[in-house]
Amino acid sequence: MVVPCFNEQDNVKPFLSACKDAFSDKEYDYELIFINDGSSDSTWKSLKALYDSESRDNYIKLVNFSRNFGKESAIYAGLQNAAGDYICIIDADLQQNPHLVTDMVEYLDSNPECDVVAAYQSERIEGKVTSLLKKTFYSVINKLCEIDFRSGASDFRTFRRTVCDAILGMPEYYRFSKGIFSWVGFNTHYIPYVAEERNAGTTSWSVRKLFKYAFDGIVSFSVFPLKLATYVGTITSFAALIYMVIVIIQKFAFGIKVPGYATIVVLLLLIGGIQLITTGIIGTYISRIYIQGKNRPIYIEKEYVSYEDNGQ
Ligand code: UDP
Ligand code: MG
Repeated sequence: MVVPCFNEQDNVKPFLSACKDAFSDKEYDYELIFINDGSSDSTWKSLKALYDSESRDNYIKLVNFSRNFGKESAIYAGLQNAAGDYICIIDADLQQNPHLVTDMVEYLDSNPECDVVAAYQSERIEGKVTSLLKKTFYSVINKLCEIDFRSGASDFRTFRRTVCDAILGMPEYYRFSKGIFSWVGFNTHYIPYVAEERNAGTTSWSVRKLFKYAFDGIVSFSVFPLKLATYVGTITSFAALIYMVIVIIQKFAFGIKVPGYATIVVLLLLIGGIQLITTGIIGTYISRIYIQGKNRPIYIEKEYVSYEDNGQ
């Protein structure tokens, strides 16, 4: 179980209890890998306490980041440290029920052709505007990218070792897990789930962050925005050509009367705006090449604690 934690001090303990509850009567072994993603509260302390309290029957690994690197980096760190044949990514806030993981594992056990069992939210408890925005995002990203994005699919999923290795083979700095999961392929089975209320704390998502996430996702898996300048340029050039013919005919047939001040200003602003936007888009891609070129690590680990080091 890979569990990214950002300010989850009051959730990690109930989460562990829920896992115990879910897996107690199961035959398989499991481990919990908590990644403390630079929390500003006492999450690390809670995790350490949890680790110490479970020392007799320990199956916990803890990774402490040097700062907040984001959930995607936390997932990557978790996958790197996961030892299991099946790997599950799950949130620490109990919005995703660990009991569902047992269903996922059962499905993988009984369906050898299936590699990934992913949960998608069948009902969303959210506003109409948010829901509309999310729908729009999925239809846009599906049009722009070659791979398929399933609306409502979450990071909550269980997959085989082969899938985990494939994901680890993508050490890109800008990680958009929805895209990475689709890109690596494999047979995915979707099961519905209803996200529960957050156990404690607040979500770290704001509208601004969601928009940034959506934009990052598109830029990570599509180069269409880069071609935008070519498309818009072609259309405007074509329109300009037609207009040129019209102007020439006007000039010779009727003579041009008053110069079109408004037309010139509007066109100047419009074309200038389009040029700036497309330059900005190109800038976005270049900045990514720049950052990736530095080959910086996806995360920096400050501390690592594992049951494996206890000789267990
Ligand atoms: N999370 C993280 N790093 C971050 C933000 C979130 O590791 O920078 C973790 C968080 O602790 C939780 C999961 O990612 O376990 C999902 O976050 P959250 O509950 O805020 O998102 P939501 O459930 O609202 O989508
Ligand atoms: Mg949550």
